[in-house]
Amino acid sequence: MTESQQWIDRGENVITKTYGRYPLVAARGEGSRLWDVDGKCYLDFLAGVAVNNIGHCHPKVVTALQQQAAELLHCSNYFHIPKQIELAEILCQNSFGDKVFFCNSGAEANEAAMKLVRKYSSEQHGPNRFEVITALASFHGRTIGTISATGQEKVKAGFSPMVPGFKYVPFGDITALKTAINPNTCAVMLEPVQGEGGVNIPPAGYLKAVREVCDQSDLVLVYDEVQVGCGRTGKLFAYEHEGVEPDVMTLAKALAGGPPIGAMVAKEKFAAALGPGTHGSTFGGNPLMASAGVAAMDVILNDGILENCRAMGDYLLQQLQQLREHYPFVKQVRGLGLIIGMELDIEGGDIVKTALDRGLLINCTVGKVLRFLPPLTVSKEEIDEAMDIFDGILKEI
Ligand SMILES: *Cc1c(COP(=O)(O)O)cnc(C)c1O
Repeated sequence: MTESQQWIDRGENVITKTYGRYPLVAARGEGSRLWDVDGKCYLDFLAGVAVNNIGHCHPKVVTALQQQAAELLHCSNYFHIPKQIELAEILCQNSFGDKVFFCNSGAEANEAAMKLVRKYSSEQHGPNRFEVITALASFHGRTIGTISATGQEKVKAGFSPMVPGFKYVPFGDITALKTAINPNTCAVMLEPVQGEGGVNIPPAGYLKAVREVCDQSDLVLVYDEVQVGCGRTGKLFAYEHEGVEPDVMTLAKALAGGPPIGAMVAKEKFAAALGPGTHGSTFGGNPLMASAGVAAMDVILNDGILENCRAMGDYLLQQLQQLREHYPFVKQVRGLGLIIGMELDIEGGDIVKTALDRGLLINCTVGKVLRFLPPLTVSKEEIDEAMDIFDGILKEI
């Protein structure tokens, strides 16, 4: 029996079955490559679902973690943490934001944002203004609060009752948004590009129109950039493409180059609503994770990552669009930077399994959209290698 199979059997006994896991037992990663415990090498075009934006085990992140680990692992947010302050400075200097709250995941960052918009609105407009409008096909996390915010039934099934105060509108439809706004509305929360919902890019001008609608009624505009922030779309933050700033933004996934971290970035006017004692997190902005965040952000900002993302994003999109001309079951290819979706009119699950078998990691969202999320450090040669494997699979369908 392979070592992989032994681990799979052991996991079967003790790990909750919350994921439909693929038969890959991860051992080691470097750049765009991942190795399993039996030594098989994979080209990783999933990158930990947009976490490993600067590749696996980036040496600058590894060094930062090693140094910090030897000095101070954890203290408490009762005290000041230099690396946390440095990371917040980097985020504020490179975004619309004035203040940062740190936590440990995307869901927690969104929880912080949802608490902030309720608190701000209750202070400014009284207790009845608490409703948040989100988009259909959105994804905001797996806590009770964030599944309530998410505009997909499948994440909610069996977990009722949901947290009240959410309304959902079709993504990209400004008229629907205007119609949904009512005297109880306090905020609009959107992913600038929907990730889990199938790589959905809103029509040009949509985010600007959303901004205007929010400004008219003092609604807080929140962007969930957990998946598309930190360089994924070829800009540091996805909102930069249209130059339309939110009031609050949530980050997680790639922010620390692999280790778990979450952040809510807010303009001062809104951040001021969360005073002492209103919110917190034991591990949030912990010295270890913050040190990795400083290192990862430094790499993203200063090592040509965004340029490579744009160039390789164009190249991969073009390669996938060429495949579309050869295979009638490919409906559409769409993407921004290195988040690219290929929508099929057949189920994509088997393609993902075959790809894994042949050493290429991709995934499939909403049943029919193959999603490509390689590290932003990916090379043209690695894309060519991935496309060879992928084309070989499509040929057999
Ligand atoms: C992954 C994701 C989340 C949830 O992040 P977790 O770290 O898994 O809690 C929230 N929003 C978006 C857009 C995501 O892609």
